[in-house]
Amino acid sequence: MSIEAEISVSKYLYSLCLEFRFSRAPKPIRFGSSQTTDNISSWHGTLKVGHDPLTVLLQIEDWDFITLPSLYIKMPLPLHWQKILPIAHLGPMPKLWHDHAYLPLCYSLNDAYDLTRHNPVHIVEWVLFTKAKSVLQALFNDERFRREELLREIKPFWEGLFYYQFLKPLDEVLTKKYIKHNIFYKDQLVFETSLDICSPSKKLPKHKLKWTNLFNEPQEHIEFPTRVLLISIQKETKIPSFKSLLEELQRDNIFGIRLSIFARWLQRWDSDIHQLFASDLLECWESKTPSVLGCLIVQGQPLAFSISLRSLILSNVTISRLKKELFGKTAISYLDLAYFFLHPSINLSPEFVYRRNLKNMNQPNLEGKKVALIGCGAIGGYLGLSLARLGAGALGGQLSLIDPDTMGEHNLGRHALGMSTLGHNKAKALEEEIHHQLPALNITHFSQSVLESVVLEEIRSYDLIIDATAKMTVSEALNEQYHSWSLTTNPTLLHVWIRANGECVQSLLVEPNSPYACRSCLQRAGHPMNNEYDAMRGHQAIAAFLACSDYTPYAVSAGMSAAALATDIVLDWLSNQSTPRYRTRYSERWQGEKLPSMDILKSQTCHVCSTNAT
Ligand SMILES: [Zn+2]
Repeated sequence: MSIEAEISVSKYLYSLCLEFRFSRAPKPIRFGSSQTTDNISSWHGTLKVGHDPLTVLLQIEDWDFITLPSLYIKMPLPLHWQKILPIAHLGPMPKLWHDHAYLPLCYSLNDAYDLTRHNPVHIVEWVLFTKAKSVLQALFNDERFRREELLREIKPFWEGLFYYQFLKPLDEVLTKKYIKHNIFYKDQLVFETSLDICSPSKKLPKHKLKWTNLFNEPQEHIEFPTRVLLISIQKETKIPSFKSLLEELQRDNIFGIRLSIFARWLQRWDSDIHQLFASDLLECWESKTPSVLGCLIVQGQPLAFSISLRSLILSNVTISRLKKELFGKTAISYLDLAYFFLHPSINLSPEFVYRRNLKNMNQPNLEGKKVALIGCGAIGGYLGLSLARLGAGALGGQLSLIDPDTMGEHNLGRHALGMSTLGHNKAKALEEEIHHQLPALNITHFSQSVLESVVLEEIRSYDLIIDATAKMTVSEALNEQYHSWSLTTNPTLLHVWIRANGECVQSLLVEPNSPYACRSCLQRAGHPMNNEYDAMRGHQAIAAFLACSDYTPYAVSAGMSAAALATDIVLDWLSNQSTPRYRTRYSERWQGEKLPSMDILKSQTCHVCSTNAT
């Protein structure tokens, strides 16, 4: 760390007359991390927000400012601030420092780092005044902002409360008192389902949910008979304050939240949802299921929970009594034998995984579409992975990978897949790789040529066919087949290829019944059209010879460039922007004449697509 930087920051803070005092403390022990002797610099003082002087703790751990300074607000907060806690961006898990509790403030609500990283004083000023003060003001004065931020941050907020459960002495939890509740205290839920999560309270088969252990310990709990509830809250409802839940977690001798408190809280949020929840719970109790796992799904974000019903099942409560207690029609006595626990979760639902990149960009994706990728080689390997990331095969869609080739050692140098796939069919290997990387996709592979009738029959009803074979003979034969189908219902056909040694990549989009050129229009030797629209007129590629076959070596980047070009066209096509249909993207080292991207009308004498063709 830099002493000069520390002195300059101290001088600056002193000049603000904010009574900051410099002190040092050992690095606090974080959950799950070991104690360290590293020093962090701390300043303690008063920051005025509105009329309220707040005691804040500013800590700088990293003087290179890759990690920004941390800011904490000392508890207890002024009374009128306490009333609205807990809120997003402040806590909820307090940190202890010199025997006092502080709530961490998340002041960076967006990535707009308009700061100079090499100027520590500027950074501290930015943290305190540009960021923290305005965030605090907005949080405490603007109820609407508070609500919107809570909804936006609902999953991390929920998980913040989960860690609150660990404030209880852990050895006590582990040894005696709480273990009888059959607690899943260390588990997180992997939320992986392609089902429509919009329908409320859909029960999932158990195998659709995975549990992983936060500490990678054996999962002995999964043996218990367990029911799964999914409760979706889609309506624009006013989310109730989490105060009652937090207060439960703050009580002594309780690990988790009494079920009655949670039920009341849910009822305040949405009485219909509460009704569903209560009737599901009664069913679980009647079938003597001791453990219930579940998710509240709030605008696509899963809030995982578990409920232990064991003590309630062992009690002599009657169903009518339980019903009354669940619906708040009588005083609670039995219901509090059941406990509710919050859990962190991993959201692997297609709604989250495949839409996230496109959120707020108003971009469509491939979910629900049927897409065929022909050729899983140097272009197709990268393209298949990126189509999957665009949601191909998600939510009722399908992605079919077609390639008769096997991976050879000569492919390794420029293919997305590596050594482990050597000798495997490329389409199958790519399918496995996509499944390995991404969840919940419907993918099939064909290890035969696209020109086999079984494959052609399969793909002619698709939405999109992508030809990434980069083999002119196959492309032309495919083009001929395509034009022999009943044109009005044809899929869209996209060809993509690499020119010469990778100086440029090109693509051609062909739509059903369109007046524009097909692949064969462009490719007729000696025809003036061939020369006119040649992206590399007069250029002679460097060829290489290997045994009896010649091949054209090209840059490692060429396959990726072609895949990127195809991906961009797919996005444009989804937005109904097919123009320009014939595109050329040059690498920077191409010095020759450049052909602009354009639409080309079909050749009147094309033997495939011309209306005169026979
Ligand atoms: Zn044509």
